[in-house]
Amino acid sequence: MPQWTVPLADVVVPEEDIAAVADVYRSGWLSMGPETEALEREFAAYTGAAHALAATNGTAALHLICVAAGLGPGDEVVVPSMTFVATVNAIAYTGASPVFADVVSVTEPWLDPASVESVLTERTTAIMTMAYGGHPGQSEALAQLARERGLILLEDAAHAIGTRLGGRHLGTLGLAGAYSFFSNKNLAVGEGGMVVTDDDAVAARMRLLRSHGMTTLTWDRHRGHASAYDVVELGFNYRIDEPRAALGRRRLARLDDDNARRAELDARYRELLAGVDGLTPALPPVEGVRLAHHLFTIVLDEGIDRARFRETLAVRGVQTSVHYPPAHRFSIHATDAELPITDAYGERAVTLPMFATMTIEQQDEVVEAVRAALGVTAGARG
Ligand SMILES: *Cc1c(COP(=O)(O)O)cnc(C)c1O
Repeated sequence: MPQWTVPLADVVVPEEDIAAVADVYRSGWLSMGPETEALEREFAAYTGAAHALAATNGTAALHLICVAAGLGPGDEVVVPSMTFVATVNAIAYTGASPVFADVVSVTEPWLDPASVESVLTERTTAIMTMAYGGHPGQSEALAQLARERGLILLEDAAHAIGTRLGGRHLGTLGLAGAYSFFSNKNLAVGEGGMVVTDDDAVAARMRLLRSHGMTTLTWDRHRGHASAYDVVELGFNYRIDEPRAALGRRRLARLDDDNARRAELDARYRELLAGVDGLTPALPPVEGVRLAHHLFTIVLDEGIDRARFRETLAVRGVQTSVHYPPAHRFSIHATDAELPITDAYGERAVTLPMFATMTIEQQDEVVEAVRAALGVTAGARG
């Protein structure tokens, strides 16, 4: 691995977290049990959802909400192309067809309700939103549109743990929401995820689907609460394990502090980059709304060579990324749909380092590197 002066994201696991995980290994019970149940209770309380169920990763969580929503062959589901491909894959796993809609603007890379409306057909059954960078975007307008049209609203809230809008946590605006605990996410466990819903039947169905469609869990049988089981659904093994649940609980308890630190870094980036020619910071803050600040992205002016810009930063030890190559540009999801704003963002956006333990010195180094890189590439502007 290259030694970055400033990595894109960083995970620091304090000794007390390691001790909590070690205790689980000493307990003699590793598969879903008391730690998982506690994490689910705490996550439900944190988001205000009636039900929270942990899953093995965010993709499995997305698949669970799609299956539990009843998606299947013949259904069309409107989804952004400007997302991680797993959002789109999860819809396709069910046999339903993902239908792409465009995003609002090159600094607001989330679903545009007008574009969503323009692709609705009589086969549309659901809208899947993605809270880009933890930003609520047009979630409320999309929830309203879904209600008006009798469509199911599903939320990929992988970036948005900690974002609340009008008192509601993202992921709880529609029928069900999914979250990821992947190692570069705000609540980093390594691999892990969560689903939430207020609907008792959907929750019961997801609980079954998560564990082979079996009517009892190993944990229930271990505690003598059940001895036999039936299999009533074609389910999966999408369970988390106890060590990861224990780590997730520790990190959830600190998440608001971590997100507050991200908010400070976000505001400081905006201040320092305000006068810099050649770029526009994306994801504008929302007055009075607490955001997860999962990503900090900038959009380069048209004509700036992005590959060269990123390479110049890399040489200085500053890691960057692109979130995301649009899904409709991958062979597997290729379509005739025209998504000009998604394409423009996909070509011009750069993700700068952002993590709760980032120091001011590291942030200054990123800003210096960005300024220098734009100076160097100025001649290459067309
Ligand atoms: C990370 C991510 C996922 C997938 O989560 P995993 O836990 O890696 O499976 C899905 N959607 C979005 C938007 C993501 O960022």
